[in-house]
Amino acid sequence: LEPAYSFMIRTRTPGGVVTPAQWLKLDAIATTYAERGLRVTTRQAFQYHGVIKGELKATMQAINAALIDTLAACGDVNRNIAVAANPYLSAVHTQVQAQAEALSKHLLPNSRAYYEIWLDEEKVAGSGEEEEPIYGAVYLPRKFKIGFAVPPSNDVDVFAQDLGYIAIIENGKLAGYNVSVGGGMGATHGDPETYPRLANVIGFITPDQVIAVGEAVVTTQRDWGNRAVRKRARLKYTIDDHGLENFRDEVAKRAGIAFGPARAYAFDHNADQFGWSQGDDGLWHLTLRIIAGRIWDRDGVEHLTGLRRIAALLDEAGGRSEFRLTANQNLLIANLDASQRDAIDALVREYALDTHTAASPARKAALACVALPTCGLAMAEAERYLPAFVDRIEALLSTHGLDGADLHIRLSGCPNGCSRPYLGEIALVGKAPGRYNLMIGADHRGQRLNTLYRENIDEAAILATLDPLFARYAAERGASERFGDFLVRAGVVAVDVSGSRTLPL
Ligand code: SF4
Repeated sequence: LEPAYSFMIRTRTPGGVVTPAQWLKLDAIATTYAERGLRVTTRQAFQYHGVIKGELKATMQAINAALIDTLAACGDVNRNIAVAANPYLSAVHTQVQAQAEALSKHLLPNSRAYYEIWLDEEKVAGSGEEEEPIYGAVYLPRKFKIGFAVPPSNDVDVFAQDLGYIAIIENGKLAGYNVSVGGGMGATHGDPETYPRLANVIGFITPDQVIAVGEAVVTTQRDWGNRAVRKRARLKYTIDDHGLENFRDEVAKRAGIAFGPARAYAFDHNADQFGWSQGDDGLWHLTLRIIAGRIWDRDGVEHLTGLRRIAALLDEAGGRSEFRLTANQNLLIANLDASQRDAIDALVREYALDTHTAASPARKAALACVALPTCGLAMAEAERYLPAFVDRIEALLSTHGLDGADLHIRLSGCPNGCSRPYLGEIALVGKAPGRYNLMIGADHRGQRLNTLYRENIDEAAILATLDPLFARYAAERGASERFGDFLVRAGVVAVDVSGSRTLPL
């Protein structure tokens, strides 16, 4: 006998795209093996929580049978690649998604261990050492994250990624990408050697250079990254230690390219747009709000069942429909004909999946990492606390006549920052059960980090701190001025314009 160990399993789904048939299989795995339904992550992956040890292999094999894998979804390798879930520039989006999938494949480790352990693939005797031209013998110093953004949406928070590709669209066509390097959210409480950092744009590349540049950034980090101090091993510290120009020159040399001058682009938000939208090919897309990314049947809510019914309907209909997870933990039902909308709307209403229609802007944009009870690193609640915290914020906004204020709230159970809290206009970062660091003053485009405002305080103190700030915001804000921008203009928080905390807005 041994303790009933349970595990979390995370998929590798670049851009979070799955077919209705795959959705049905993922749903069946959730109901058979997992405890808490399907969880949409902030990197467009699915997480299964509470898979018991004895059923790990069967779960992995079922995932594989859905033509999805979990290869390199954890570990010191390139993780799931995030891609803009942007439905309204579909021709460009399709190209960007394809490039992201190709890069994801290129950066997979060659090791067969995954297949041998989980999929009963026989070991090839005497085949010698596996060649790992990208990762080498010891892989990367730390995990590595890549995002592809399609302006004007920065829904992937491209500047929070180690490596970012910002699509440059000229005359309606994909001209190439501005490349950004050195973003990262993780930090450690009380350790000034660690900090969140925004990525810097290092130049423009053409679409055919995506893979060469991606490989060059990864191998430079492999060779230059700090292997002595794990907390300083992320690419952002490599860049700060070696200098941005040196890093860019090394990447250009390894990739055999010359970066062009960065081209103009503009982000106008880093949240999702909800409801129906039409792509330039005439197909329709419905974005649904999924609170904290959790899809399950519980307490009279049947979101898992409802989405199963929708997936079955779409699977039977055939066509190009698909599900897309967003990096803000929401769900797109994409590529539908106009004739399919009514049936989908009916199921969305029947299963109360239309939470986006009545929710306030603050509720719709709020993010939370999983934290307790399933993350072993959590210091405080996040996912389970999110609805109640948003209730309190909405009530407080209301007392100041700020109902309906658009506000980006992010909750994180610890400073690792899986919900990208340092880019929240208001963010709580867990310190201990019921206690958080209050961070305020980020912008709503993912281009300015927030600032620590109060340390280690409880809910009452958080609300008492925000109360006078909301009062000032109500009285002094400019037309359309966001809360985060107001806090900076009013001098409530100081802005560090070093280029790794604030990018040109
Ligand atoms: Fe990530 Fe920390 Fe949240 Fe766990 S508690 S999910 S490590 S941010």
